[in-house]
Amino acid sequence: MKLTVFGSGYVGLVTWTCLAELWHEVYCIDVDEKKIELLKQGIIPIYEPGLQDLVTRNYAEGRLMFSTDAKLGIEFAEVVFSAVGTPPDKDEKADLQYVKQVATTFATYLDRPKLLVNKSTVPVGTAHACQEIIQDILDASGKHIQFEVASNPEFLKEWAAIDDFMNPDRIVCGVASDFGKELLTRLYEPLCRSYRNVFFTDILSSEIIKYASNAFLATKISFINEIANFAELVWANVLDISRGMGMDSRIGNRFLHAGIGYGGSCFPKDVKALIQTGKQHGYDFKIIKSADEANTLQKSLPVKKLRKFLPDLQGTTIAIRGLAFKPKTDDIREAPSITVITELLAAGAKVQLFDPVAMENFKTIFPAHDQVVYSEWAYQVLEWADALLILTEWNEFRWADISKVAELLPHRIVIDGRNIRQKATCEKLWFLYAGIWQ
Ligand code: NAD
Repeated sequence: MKLTVFGSGYVGLVTWTCLAELWHEVYCIDVDEKKIELLKQGIIPIYEPGLQDLVTRNYAEGRLMFSTDAKLGIEFAEVVFSAVGTPPDKDEKADLQYVKQVATTFATYLDRPKLLVNKSTVPVGTAHACQEIIQDILDASGKHIQFEVASNPEFLKEWAAIDDFMNPDRIVCGVASDFGKELLTRLYEPLCRSYRNVFFTDILSSEIIKYASNAFLATKISFINEIANFAELVWANVLDISRGMGMDSRIGNRFLHAGIGYGGSCFPKDVKALIQTGKQHGYDFKIIKSADEANTLQKSLPVKKLRKFLPDLQGTTIAIRGLAFKPKTDDIREAPSITVITELLAAGAKVQLFDPVAMENFKTIFPAHDQVVYSEWAYQVLEWADALLILTEWNEFRWADISKVAELLPHRIVIDGRNIRQKATCEKLWFLYAGIWQ
C-alpha cells in the first residue's frame, strides 16, 4: 500500500520504518526542515536501538521517502497517519494544535477517498473533531470525496519500539465504518497473520484505551513506590515485596519496580490530560489524581535521602549518573533527573552529569556552566564529588566497578534511585548507601 506518516518523532519514525518493513511504500512528512535534512543525510534524528539499520535497508530497497511537502504526502497515500506531538498545554490538557493542522492539511489536499489514522495520544472526541474540521473544509470548497478519521493509538516503548511495533500485544483500531476497517485490516495483515490481535472497536473507546492503559501503568508504579516508602518505615524490603506480589499472575511482576517516579513523554502528560478530560466531562478521577500526586513527591526522594548524609548541600559537588527517564533512550522529557537537579542547584550544589546518550538533549534544559558540568565518561563524573546519585538504570551503571567508584568518591555516599546496586556489597566497602527501599 502507499502510505504517509505525518511527524518524524519517536512514533512517526518507528511507524514509518516498520510500515516499510511490512513492504508498504511510505512517505514521512515533517514541518521541521532540520529533521528532514538529517534524514536526507542518512542520520536518524532520535536514538532508538535498531532503527538506523532498518531505515538504511528499507531506504536502499526504495520503500522509504521523506519530505516537508505536505501536499505530496497527502496525494501519495491512500492511508495517512498522523503521529504528531500532543504536548501538555498550560492547563495540562493535550495541546491538539498539531493534530488539527494535519486534519486541515488532509482536507486541503484530499483528491480521492482516503483514511486519516490518528496514532497520536489524543483525548476522547478528537477524531470526531478532526472529522468535522475536514468536512467543513470540503464543504467550503465544494468537494465531495469519501474520507474517514480512524483512531489507532500507539503503544510502543522507547528503546524497544521496533519490537513493540512488529510484535505487538495488540493493535487497537477505532473505526466508524467498513471503509476504515477494510483499509486497516489490509495494512496490518502481515502482523495479524501470526498474532490475530487486531482489535476493532468504536473510535471513542479506542481513544480511551490508550489513556486508560497509560494511567493504569502509571498507577501501578506509584502504588509500588508508596509501598516502598511504607516498607522503609517498618524495615521491610520492597524488592522482596514486589517479587512476592508479582508471582501472582493476576498482578504480574512488570511495572512493580520501586524507584524515583515515572517520567518520559507519555505517562506524566497522559495522566494529567486524562484528569483534565475527566474534569471537562464532569468526572473526578480520584485514583489517577493520587497516582499523579504520589509521583510528584517521589521525584524529590533522592535529594531528601541525600540530605540524611549531607544535610547542607551548599557548596557540595554531586555526581549524577543517568539523565534520561529510562535506559537506552535519549528522551529526557519529564525525567525525574530534571526535578533532582533543579533541587540540587537551588540548594547551592554543583552537579557533574553523565548519561551515555541523553546529554545533548539535557543541555537544552541545563546548559553547561560553573554549577553544571557535563562529563565525558561514567567515572569522570565522580572526580571531586561528595556523593553519587544514580538516576537511570543503565547497565553500565549497574555493573560499574564499585571499588573504582570507592577510590574516586572520597565520602563514599551513594543514593541509588533505581535499586541497581547491592547494599551489602556497598557497605562492605564502607559506602553510605541508600536505595529507594531502605
Ligand atoms: P515528537 O514530539 O517526538 O514528534 C512529533 C513530530 O511531529 C515532530 O517532529 C514535529 O516537528 C512533527 N510535527 C508537528 N506538526 C506537524 C505537522 N503539521 N506536519 C508534520 N509534522 C508535524 O512526538 P512523539 O514522541 O513521536 O509522540 C507523538 C505522539 O505519539 C504523541 O501524541 C505521543 O503522546 C504519542 N506516543 C508517544 C510514544 C513515545 O514513546 N514517544 C509512545 C506512544 C504514543
